[in-house]
Parts: sequence; structure tokens; C-alpha cells
Amino acid sequence: MNTFTVIFFVALAAGTLLRWWLAARQLKSVAGHRDRVPEDFSESISLETHQHAADYTAVRTRMGMLEIGASALLLLVWTVGGGIDLLNGAWAASGLPPLLAGTGLLLSAFLIMGLLEMPFDAYRTFVIEERFGFNRTSPRLFLTDTVKQAVLLVVIGAPIVALVLWLMAHAGDRWWLYVWIVWMAFSLALTWAYPAVIAPLFNKFVPLDDDALKARIESLLERNGFASQGIFVVDGSKRSGHGNAYFTGLGSNKRIVFFDTLLRQLDPEEIEAVLAHEVGHFKRKHIAKRIGLMAIVSLAGLMLLGWLVGAPWFYAGLGVTEPSLAVALLLFLLVLPTFTVFVQPLMSWLSRRHEFEADEFAARQADAGKLVEALVKLYKENANTLTPDPLYSAFHDSHPPAPVRIAHLRTKQATAG
Ligand SMILES: [Zn+2]
Repeated sequence: MNTFTVIFFVALAAGTLLRWWLAARQLKSVAGHRDRVPEDFSESISLETHQHAADYTAVRTRMGMLEIGASALLLLVWTVGGGIDLLNGAWAASGLPPLLAGTGLLLSAFLIMGLLEMPFDAYRTFVIEERFGFNRTSPRLFLTDTVKQAVLLVVIGAPIVALVLWLMAHAGDRWWLYVWIVWMAFSLALTWAYPAVIAPLFNKFVPLDDDALKARIESLLERNGFASQGIFVVDGSKRSGHGNAYFTGLGSNKRIVFFDTLLRQLDPEEIEAVLAHEVGHFKRKHIAKRIGLMAIVSLAGLMLLGWLVGAPWFYAGLGVTEPSLAVALLLFLLVLPTFTVFVQPLMSWLSRRHEFEADEFAARQADAGKLVEALVKLYKENANTLTPDPLYSAFHDSHPPAPVRIAHLRTKQATAG
């Protein structure tokens, strides 16, 4: 057997077993704490709500375990099982010029993958979310969402894939450098355009329209250089009962978005505190930092791809008989997560650090106690577990678990008060 095949098998098995093991720990932790509300929350959260969150977390974790197994199997079918080879052969036989056939190969592979994920998405939406009372998506909306996503993939994906493949073929030995420049420009443009052009295809965004609330938040926004035209409310209730708030976009298109579901649950002081947290992401330049990190990672990735393109063992080891630039790019995108899963804890840690920074900012600019109240409501409404397994959380959680985050805010509140 090809040595690279062995390395691939070992990494895939290790990553799969690691994530199963963490999920099993999470299940155990949630079940073990199901009968009692953690002390710090005994006044704000009822036993019934706590158990609802525990059951919801358990069901979703089990579903996640099933998906981890299914995606590992699917990856084997695509690679050593000959899936990519088959699809590549079909495009090669189409008689299209290599650039078009290559673009077709990548897009069709991603469309097929999306199609295979659909049953999982549907189960999550119409069985799990439905059972726990969160689902608001109609089958019709689910279908139109899926069609829109597929159209977007083709409309946005085709030109960029074609351009990348063209550079790989014609830009000389340093093609990876030019691809990197194009990729960075594309990512920046997409980050900038997303809130104004793409997100509105799926949801309605309206400026926050509440004069009393506006007066309250105006000074917070003004002293931090954030235009109040940048506060939007999104009709998240169209799909789900879950609530949230987030900061998105770049430059003139940056905005803070509140879910209508969340807005309905919070009082004005709590909204101000959540807003201060989102402004904190903006002031601490978290989006710019994330883009900077992505720039470094993607440059390293492209240099690696530049080397793999010419390595026969890379294709042979992953079940491909007809090497080409398009196949190399597709294999690389498919197989990379098998190896990068091991840096997931680092990414999660970085994201949690940003959350702490935004919380610290909010604690200085608004009432930390109100942010705690808002977070408790948010955790309650989203049925997040209060008792995650620490290792599972360290590996996966982009946001600190409720008890950690609230304890952190309470210390800020104490020092501020
Ligand atoms: Zn945040």
C-alpha cells in the first residue's frame, strides 16, 4: 500500500476516534449533571429548563457522532473508493477544454456533497429542532434555501475556481503566490459584500427602529465610532426560535445584527449590554485579525498545494489514476480537514479569547450585570448546556460555556463596581 494512503488512514481514524471520544465525554457530563441545576444558576434557571437543555444537547451530540462517522466513510468513498476518479473520468470524457472540465469537476463534486448532506440537515431541522420546539422552517423554505445555496455556489464558485485553475496552469512556478493574492482579494470582497448582498437573499434586514432604544445606545455607538445606521434586526424567527446577535462585514458595510427573537426577550438595558459586546468585537478588530490569520494559513496551504501538485504519490495515495491540476485542488480541499482537525482546539481557543475581550469591553462600556442577565436568557432560550465536558468544550466551543463566561463577567463587575 502507498505510504501516503497509510498516513491518510491513520490521520482519519485518529481524528474520528478523537471526536467520538470527546462526544462520548460530553454525553456523560451532560447526563451526570442532569438532575440538578448548577448552584450559580439555581435562581435563574428551573430544573425543567435545565433538563430540556441537557436532553437537547444529548440528542444533538449523538447526531454529531453519526455525522462524524458518515463523513469519514464518505471521504473514503470519494478518495480510495474511486469516487473522484469516476467523476474526473466523466468530465474528461466530456470533450470540454481542461479549464471548463476542471471547473465542472470541482463544482459538481461540491454540489454532490451538498446533496448528500441534505438528509442530515433535514433531519436536524424537522426532527430534532421540531421536537424541542425550535423549528420554524417550512419544507418549502428549506427547499428554496437549498436551491439558493446551490445557485450561489455555482454563480460565485465558477469564476473563482476557473481563475484559480487558470493561474495554476499559466502563471509559472510561483502560481501559488498569484492564487493567494486572488484568493485574499476574493475573501475581502466577499466579507465586505456579504451583509449587503448575500445575507439579504435569505433574510430580511431592517434598521433597528425603536426611538427609546436608539437614544439609549446612541452615545455608546458614538463614542466608539460606530454609525448607528449599522444596527440591524434580522427576521431569524422565520427559520428558528433560537436567538443571537453578531458583528459582520467590513468598512462601509460593517454592521451589528440582532435576531428579532433575541430582541423580543431582552429589556433595553440588556440590549445595550449585548450591543456593547458586539461593539467590542469591532473595537478590538476581531474580523481584521481573523482575516490576517486566514491570510497566513492560506499562504501556507497554497505553498503546500504547490508542492503536492507535482507529487505522484499524492494522487495515487488517494485513489486517483489521472492526475490533473483540478484533481489536485479538489483532493486537497477534501482531505485537508483530515489533518487540520488537530488544530481545532487552537482555533476554538482563539475564538473564545475574542469573546472574553469583547465581554471585557462590554463590562467597561455598559452594565456587566445586565450582560450576565442577557446571557442567561440567551442560554435558556437556546437550550445550551450549563455543564459541558471541559475537554469537549476546549476542543469545540467558539464561545466560552455559560458558567465560565458569566464567572469571568462577575469578576469584571466586581472590579468595576
Ligand atoms: Zn461575541
